[in-house]
Amino acid sequence: MTIERQSPDEKHLAAQWARVRGHLQSEVGEVEYRTWLRQMSLGELDGDEITVRLPSRFLRDWVRTHYGDRLNALWQAENRRIRRVDIAFGGTATAEGLAEPVNAAEPASPFETPPHAPGHGGGERAETAAALDPRFTFDSFVVGKPNEFAYACARRVAEKPASTGFNPLFLYGGVGLGKTHLMHAMAWELTRNGDARPGAAPVSVAYMSAEKFMYRFIAAIRSQATMEFKEQLRSVDVLMIDDLQFLIGKDATQEEFFHTFNALVDAGKQIVVSADKSPSDLSGLEERVRTRLGCGMVADLHATTFELRVSILGAKAQRAGVPVPAKVVEFLAHKITSNVRELEGALNRLIAHANLFGRTITLETTQEVLHDILKAHDRRVTIEEIQRKVSEHWNIRLTDMSSPRRARNVARPRQVAMYLAKQLTSRSLPEIGRKFGTRDHTTVMHAVQRVTELMTLDAGFADDVELLRRMLES
Ligand code: ADP
Ligand code: MG
Repeated sequence: MTIERQSPDEKHLAAQWARVRGHLQSEVGEVEYRTWLRQMSLGELDGDEITVRLPSRFLRDWVRTHYGDRLNALWQAENRRIRRVDIAFGGTATAEGLAEPVNAAEPASPFETPPHAPGHGGGERAETAAALDPRFTFDSFVVGKPNEFAYACARRVAEKPASTGFNPLFLYGGVGLGKTHLMHAMAWELTRNGDARPGAAPVSVAYMSAEKFMYRFIAAIRSQATMEFKEQLRSVDVLMIDDLQFLIGKDATQEEFFHTFNALVDAGKQIVVSADKSPSDLSGLEERVRTRLGCGMVADLHATTFELRVSILGAKAQRAGVPVPAKVVEFLAHKITSNVRELEGALNRLIAHANLFGRTITLETTQEVLHDILKAHDRRVTIEEIQRKVSEHWNIRLTDMSSPRRARNVARPRQVAMYLAKQLTSRSLPEIGRKFGTRDHTTVMHAVQRVTELMTLDAGFADDVELLRRMLES
């Protein structure tokens, strides 16, 4: 083992520092880097500890909590001697020549260069404040009853921003129902339209979460650049603020947002806002803000229906180019009802698994791969539920489950329901019998035997029963 006696070559350290910064910059993006990290300077290397300095306590704390781990990891990857990064307050670095000039006067810009619009070369002239997800377009948004109104409003505003009755556009709904997706889709479309209509004034769009809005606002205050911040925001044609509920309780930021909002609306610019509740239900938001938010178009995204979930899964599977059997799609749409994000996550995992192991997707593999997700969505099955699902499946009346009718088309489903009740609940045979129009326990036993037998003889029938079982399973 060699013992290093010499202090490390400073040039060497400077090069490593440049790489660390470069990595961090590409990881967090231009805006975030400029807002929080640009003013970092390199301090001294002392044993296994390197110091990184920031010119204010606020910035130091911020960088420590938000980027400390990454700085540590990146430094360790660059230099094996380094075990710890000390993030300290202090404008000037002791290692001379390594520190960068601190320029606190330069404002943090709320804008960053937008990424290219999907399938389109444009976008240079429009400004968006946060990177837009290239997957979130109108094309990839599946429309159904629960979201058709919100979709139509979004389309309309993307075509004709700031038209009467649609300003502001307020989109609201629960988590994972497509608010952000619709907002990005509008931003893409507006950017594209600006480029697609020769001679028309370019449309500049600023999209950001309410949280980002607040961070930028605070950063602007700290660097005494609020004027620039305001001017930049007020120079856009369309301002989109996502998840506005975040501003509740943040009074100064709310105030700033309100002024920006008014200035833009008065100048005939479009505002689009999303939140998890309707304007009137956003208690904690100032009355005047709520009033103004509600005076344009308010559109809500309702909870998904089974049909919409099936369409979304179908569309996403098709996009991924992976065949997912209809039975699996239906099964997932039945099981995962919370929101689209979870549904999507389950499907992605399924697809990744199929690709990785070269296995085709079946109900069996689905259950195996998504075991933990499905368990989280499990609930106890009741005999009533079984009866309902089974009658729906074969299109018979629920009352036929307990009726004395013996026609095959009702008797068979009834037997399946009894079989499933035996399999999926802890009820005894007599208990089950009573739920099916006071039938005898031997009738239930017979049904269980008959269904088991039929399943070995008829693969289609077995599939049906399996599907029902999986849908109901707890
Ligand atoms: P929210 O902002 O309302 O919490 P998101 O817009 O982030 O929800 O949507 C969550 C995920 O579900 C995203 O990946 C989005 O693409 C997808 N998603 C939601 N609704 C739809 C839809 N109608 N069609 C296609 N994808 C959807
Ligand atoms: Mg969102």
